[in-house]
Amino acid sequence: MTQKFDVVVIGAGPGGYVAAIKAAQLGLTTACIEKYTDKEGKLALGGTCLNVGCIPSKALLDSSWKFHEAQDGFAIHGISHAGVSMDVPAMVGRKANIVKNLTSGVATLFKANGVTSIQGHGKLLAGKKVEVTKPDGSVEVIEAENVILAPGSRPIDIPPAPVDQKVIVDSTGALEFQSVPKRLGVIGAGVIGLELGSVWSRLGAEVTVLEALDTFLMAADTAVSKEALKTLTKQGLDIKLGARVTGSKVNGEEVVVTYTDANGEQNITFDKLIVAVGRRPVTTDLLAADCGVTLDERGFVHVDDHCATTVPGVYAIGDVVRGMMLAHKASEEGIMVVERIKGHKAQMNYDLIPSVIYTHPEIAWVGKTEQTLKAEGVEVNVGTFPFAASGRAMAANDTGGFVKVIADAKTDRVLGVHVIGPSAAELVQQGAIGMEFGTSAEDLGMMVFSHPTLSEALHEAALAVNGGAIHIANRKKR
Ligand SMILES: Cc1cc2nc3c(=O)[nH]c(=O)nc-3n(C[C@H](O)[C@H](O)[C@H](O)COP(=O)(O)OP(=O)(O)OC[C@H]3O[C@@H](n4cnc5c(N)ncnc54)[C@H](O)[C@@H]3O)c2cc1C
Repeated sequence: MTQKFDVVVIGAGPGGYVAAIKAAQLGLTTACIEKYTDKEGKLALGGTCLNVGCIPSKALLDSSWKFHEAQDGFAIHGISHAGVSMDVPAMVGRKANIVKNLTSGVATLFKANGVTSIQGHGKLLAGKKVEVTKPDGSVEVIEAENVILAPGSRPIDIPPAPVDQKVIVDSTGALEFQSVPKRLGVIGAGVIGLELGSVWSRLGAEVTVLEALDTFLMAADTAVSKEALKTLTKQGLDIKLGARVTGSKVNGEEVVVTYTDANGEQNITFDKLIVAVGRRPVTTDLLAADCGVTLDERGFVHVDDHCATTVPGVYAIGDVVRGMMLAHKASEEGIMVVERIKGHKAQMNYDLIPSVIYTHPEIAWVGKTEQTLKAEGVEVNVGTFPFAASGRAMAANDTGGFVKVIADAKTDRVLGVHVIGPSAAELVQQGAIGMEFGTSAEDLGMMVFSHPTLSEALHEAALAVNGGAIHIANRKKR
């Protein structure tokens, strides 16, 4: 007999697994189809995020930062030690254990919530039927009242640097190095390139980042991107802007990369090369020709503001649809879709999705940049507070960067919070909460912040918007 569910989800990444759990919580019979298997050949839920993305990269970022601190950051605290050594396989092994815990945790959550987990490749057929090809090759068709497509994305390949996962790797390969490459090249100065470049640089690699664009971190506020470029360069990342890779040649254990920049053609040799030029939606064998779901001109599944596709009852969420490729965006879309399936009027505020780059210092922002607002003709007041003036940051010996709050000059409503510095990701979230509730800079300034905290920098930046900062001289006078 054909199985039938209220909701069938294809893909168990942060979009799909969260949607499946939410659907089950709301009393809908739910199945989630996933094909990804770990190195042992076992079904691994959690998608890119848990297996080869957010979590493993942060595990290595944290381990490598601890190594860096142990090497160079303790003396100022009056702590000396005989010497620090590293064990890369142990670091990578720790990361693998975290991944295993989290992915098996999703399986446990599925059981606890009554989600039916199905291993296999899912394909949408006409009439909201889903064909599942199981690992043994057998095929089953299941029926659904609603289908949620959440197949995610994968790294973009570029012809000048074909990935072999030995010398030329993508982000997944870069999480698996068993020793520190002496000379590491990274193509792409985006989030993933900077995070992975930072990991291996802290562990001792000479890192060169080749970025085709002339502008560094284009999406960030210019004040933040300038500070980031200065700091990361000081840390040893050689970031070459306007450097377009045109070819590569693997010679045994090394690769010679050819690129062009303002000075013409250049060659540079690396022991490993990471290709991190972006990701593209996964739609291979996902949609039967007559299923009715359409793709846009860039290959993303075409959806409206509520993630509904062109077929009633079929939705798509996460990296496979327009917008930022972020785990939290995927999850919230999943929740919105399920709430709407249940008949609730859920919607998502796409203007307030925070972005974070987990370098050190962290870089994070929510809302619009000063440049975008000015280009839109919005008059703004800006308040900035440097961590160099924060007692908590001084105590932690982590004083690089600043908080910048941008508010509408007429209404004082906060339109952007931009942070580069310690715990930027957490601070920006506080800004996002305020902005969701339409906070003004004055509101933030009138709140009581614990002392001493890094959050006080957000408080002071909000006060500075209207010339009221206490712990720095105000540029704007009241
Ligand atoms: C190195 C790295 C670091 C990152 N760091 C961050 C970060 O710090 N913060 C952040 O927000 N984002 C980060 N991201 C991005 C984040 O991982 C993605 O935005 C997020 O995982 C997208 O979620 P998703 O559910 O749309 O898709 P995915 O997580 O890609 O999951 C899709 C799942 O669907 C499965 N699938 C695909 N097709 C089928 C099919 N036909 N049948 C069955 N199963 C299928 C896949 O196997 C996969 O498991 C990072 C990404 C990378 C690569």
